[in-house]
Amino acid sequence: MARSKIYLKTPQEIACMKKAGLILQKAQKAMKAMIKPGVTLDEIDAVAAEVIAQNNSKAGFLGYHGFPKTICTMLNNEVVHGIPDDRVLKAGDLLSVDCGVIWEGLNADAAFTVIVGGEETNPKRAKFSACVRKALLAGCAQAKIGNHVGDIGQAIEAVVRAGGYKIVRDFTGHGVGHNLHEDPYIFNYGVAGKGAKLVEGMTIAIEPIVAMGKPGYKTLKDGWTVVTKDGQDACQWEHFGAIGPNGLEIFA
Ligand code: MG
Ligand code: MG
Repeated sequence: MARSKIYLKTPQEIACMKKAGLILQKAQKAMKAMIKPGVTLDEIDAVAAEVIAQNNSKAGFLGYHGFPKTICTMLNNEVVHGIPDDRVLKAGDLLSVDCGVIWEGLNADAAFTVIVGGEETNPKRAKFSACVRKALLAGCAQAKIGNHVGDIGQAIEAVVRAGGYKIVRDFTGHGVGHNLHEDPYIFNYGVAGKGAKLVEGMTIAIEPIVAMGKPGYKTLKDGWTVVTKDGQDACQWEHFGAIGPNGLEIFA
């Protein structure tokens, strides 16, 4: 088995990641402000691209293994790696948006979910998204010096199970830095005390990816978009940051 190689970051590298995170937060704010019924996924992608360009940074996903857009959009039954297109949003849609920003060669990576038109348009989906976000925050709370990757996974899994939902286990969080994806994998399930030990200077992305029904999935012919096999909803939330003396400092 190959040994995992975890790159600890210098304070200078962490400062660049924090800056990348601030730009990503600006892009998220601009996207959240425009997401409403009648808007297309391409229009949201264009706004993210504009904010990233205005801040003299680079999109982290565009061109990554050939990915064609700035953001990933996951609508309703889409699980991960959805490609924005000209589909028009409707009230009650469940939309997850994942975005990456590169500043001085260092990556930011974070995702949010919204109910298009407001939570009251689909309380079942709002409850689902709230549970996945709660699982993310429970995982982040375990990301502290001396804990292990398994502590994060166990905390996420407990919240998702309590909600009655299913983790799509093949998709994981990860180390992040000079590369969008670095060691270690941050599984969304696990056993406390197991896996890589968390130390100061690790920079990680935590991202529960959860199915409302069965966790089986398939990839569409575009080679990217992953959807649930049963056609039911999926949802993703993601934060990234650095592990320091006060736990995980979230950058976006
Ligand atoms: Mg992401
Ligand atoms: Mg990620």
